[in-house]
Amino acid sequence: MMKDRLTALFELQSVDSQLDELESLRGDLPTTVQELERELNEKVETIEEKLAEIEEAKKKKTKNEHDAKDLLEQQKKFKAQLYQVRNNKEYDALTKEIDYAEDKIETLDSDSDALIKRVEQLEEEIEELKPLVEEKKSKLDEKNENLKKIVAENEKEEARLQKEREKLVKNVRRGDYSNYTRIRRAKKGLAVATISRSACSGCHNIVPPQRQLEIRRNNRLFFCEHCGRILVSVEVAEEAKA
Ligand SMILES: [Zn+2]
Repeated sequence: MMKDRLTALFELQSVDSQLDELESLRGDLPTTVQELERELNEKVETIEEKLAEIEEAKKKKTKNEHDAKDLLEQQKKFKAQLYQVRNNKEYDALTKEIDYAEDKIETLDSDSDALIKRVEQLEEEIEELKPLVEEKKSKLDEKNENLKKIVAENEKEEARLQKEREKLVKNVRRGDYSNYTRIRRAKKGLAVATISRSACSGCHNIVPPQRQLEIRRNNRLFFCEHCGRILVSVEVAEEAKA
């Protein structure tokens, strides 16, 4: 009977729509988790970068201290040599070396001071970031927990719907099924529409009164003139839902 063909199509559509909804729900959650993971990694990386900079700064400071110590030793030698100079030229050359070492040591010292300040600043920044990392971590744990729960819940519902779908597909004619599949693919999931307020429920374009009458007879397969979806009568839709 034609009406049964139409009912079978409408039933299949309603199960497929529910499956689509479950899929879209699941499709959204992993994105949220991914986004949180990305944010968390970003913060962790920032901390790691700051820690690396601290290590570099400390190394540089140690090197500065070492260099300053060497310069001081040199300077001492030059100062000792001042007592053995034989002329003004030698004296000038030595004082120049001593002054040069003095300047260098000063530069190294102020550089080390700046490095100490930078390390302190970085350590403060890290302390500020730590609670944010913890916050993201616990949020991520929470979302992951939710995701697992919802996926588990969905799995049950999905399995139930899939089973129902298998049963329903057996009632759909092969030709109807291939039409259905083709339209579903072209129309973002909705292949079977009904009449609602004289319009196609898929595209909301008015269905001519004469055509509405014909559809109500439930004895032929009709397609919407505008969107190409299969059109079934309200009677068929309601019987399918029941
Ligand atoms: Zn339509």
